[in-house]
Amino acid sequence: MSEAERLKKKLPVPYTDWLPEVVKRNLGKWVDRKYHGYGVIEHISETGDRIFTVKVGTPPNFRVSTDTLRKFIDVADRLGVGGIKMTRNGNLEILTDSLDKALKIKEEVERMGFPVGGWGPTLWSINSCTAYLTCTTAVLDAPSITKVLYDYLKPYFTGEITLPAKLRINVSGCPSACGGFTTDINLVGHYGDAPTYDPDKIKLCLPKSAKAIEAGHVPEVAEVCPTRAIRVYGKPDGSVGLDIIREKCIACGRCRDVCDWIDFDESKAGVAVLVGGKASNTGRGPMPSYQVIPWVPAIPPDYVEIVAVVKKIIDVWRTNASEGERIGDWIGRVGMKKFYQLMKIPEGKWNRAVESQGEFGVRQFRI
Ligand code: SF4
Ligand code: SF4
Repeated sequence: MSEAERLKKKLPVPYTDWLPEVVKRNLGKWVDRKYHGYGVIEHISETGDRIFTVKVGTPPNFRVSTDTLRKFIDVADRLGVGGIKMTRNGNLEILTDSLDKALKIKEEVERMGFPVGGWGPTLWSINSCTAYLTCTTAVLDAPSITKVLYDYLKPYFTGEITLPAKLRINVSGCPSACGGFTTDINLVGHYGDAPTYDPDKIKLCLPKSAKAIEAGHVPEVAEVCPTRAIRVYGKPDGSVGLDIIREKCIACGRCRDVCDWIDFDESKAGVAVLVGGKASNTGRGPMPSYQVIPWVPAIPPDYVEIVAVVKKIIDVWRTNASEGERIGDWIGRVGMKKFYQLMKIPEGKWNRAVESQGEFGVRQFRI
């Protein structure tokens, strides 16, 4: 079955029906591109057709009012080719057919209060999980951290301050890290320490009799723990006991989601900071990110500590990396020890430097 037939079979309407005419007739024919300042890119087809994309930074998860969405659509209708595109990181791209119109689109959306940028050696996006809006396991409100970061890092998105290479940041509200770990800077929410539990009431979350444990039953409160940090055991009096092994706990909160008698000290909620991940084949190839700071407090509404750490990482990278080096490529060249020295991060049990000359990260996609 051809690709076109397969798509027709799966989708109720062939996807090409939704594309603007100029995009449809140039499918598979785009051969080149040019940048026109940050956030405006020209795509050139072998047919001679040209499309210009204007990339607009939008709020985390593209949460905008219907009124704002209508305004974007109005701009796209007046100045574009009848098509907009959402990137997977929540940026909006408006398509048009001339540079003149692209620059007008840029002017109009900037007047609406939205920055244009995110291409070339800039901050491309801050990807955020939805956290509390749709998720029951959130430790932190990832989108509000993302919004604060965007406010501070806007000059890196628009290209007012240039960077050695592309920069992507991901903010996850809990250790499930739905955005993954393959971005240059990853912030992962967690409770900062293992939970405590009410020693009397915890039995409400456990089987009544040790016989159930002996028979191999694992109560939900232990089953949900991703690191096996919860141990349940039969006591000599026939009842069931529970231990939380602090060293194994990643403070994810899963156990509390299923047992009301487990709790956390919310004042310890924070983010782990990981650096150096990327998904592309450039430089040293794809790599996961590496935890460099296990905990930074997350204190709303300004999250000043998190902003300070992220800015420091960017500044250290900006002033020391060579042109074209993503954060992971740069750390791979200079070594983790050097990175820690520049960042003034003390090495500890949870962020011990690895031997990194030429081997930073894991080449899991390479043979
Ligand atoms: S990272 Fe955690 S909080 Fe965010 S969407 Fe995924 S599971 Fe929910
Ligand atoms: S479920 Fe998460 S928070 Fe609870 S003990 Fe396991 S690792 Fe720790």
